[in-house]
Amino acid sequence: MEFVIMLFILGLAVWILWLRKKKIFQKSPAGEMSDEWKEFLKKEIGFYRELDAASKKTFEDKVMRFLSNVIVTGVDTEVTDEDRLLIASSAVIPIFAFPDWEYNNLNEVLLYPNSFSREYETKGEDRHVAGMVGWGPMHRTMILSRQSLKQGFENEHTKSNVGIHEFVHLIDKLDGATDGLPEVLLRRQYSIPWMKMIRKEMEEIRQKKSNINPYGATNEAEFFSVVSEYFFSQPKMLKKKEPELYEMLEEVFRQDPAG
Ligand SMILES: [Zn+2]
Repeated sequence: MEFVIMLFILGLAVWILWLRKKKIFQKSPAGEMSDEWKEFLKKEIGFYRELDAASKKTFEDKVMRFLSNVIVTGVDTEVTDEDRLLIASSAVIPIFAFPDWEYNNLNEVLLYPNSFSREYETKGEDRHVAGMVGWGPMHRTMILSRQSLKQGFENEHTKSNVGIHEFVHLIDKLDGATDGLPEVLLRRQYSIPWMKMIRKEMEEIRQKKSNINPYGATNEAEFFSVVSEYFFSQPKMLKKKEPELYEMLEEVFRQDPAG
């Protein structure tokens, strides 16, 4: 009898150890975020500040996972932890509602101190050259200007956020075409209404009947990135000015940042 009890206790001990070990293996490979980093997010990232405690933890885990998968390299500048956190936050905000999301089309972010070298400056207007998704040999690379990246989060009144803008291009690109239709996010039945809405809204920008950044009328892909910046930076304003567009973006990102 005593032998049976001892065997039972031994079995129980082994089982408890196994459970503990399993938990260790389940822990995110990126580890826990430090309190210092959490403080920074609270101070700088409005989106994070608005989250409840459980969602804050999810946000932190996603940031850590992003930073363990993507390298941030400074060009003519030293990359700081703050830069890394702003970049990772830009990446996490649009896909926050999608569990287990990975940016499979990104290896590296190059951080420039300001807007880019002359060969990029010739393209588009100022704000836009503050960020780009690489192509050709730069495929799987994103380039961002630190100055613009910071402005997007520091200025409470802006509808612009270059980090979010470029990550939305990456999401758009995941289905093979950067065309304003993010097939990886949007349920199929919304594709046609979404493209119709884009064209209508672009026409309103051209006729100066819109408060969306005119850069959004460049093409469908730019429209999608521009209104996504707006959606996450000034959700309440967008909901008031463009309720139908807001509702559609709610469907795309499965988030209600104005709520
Ligand atoms: Zn763009």
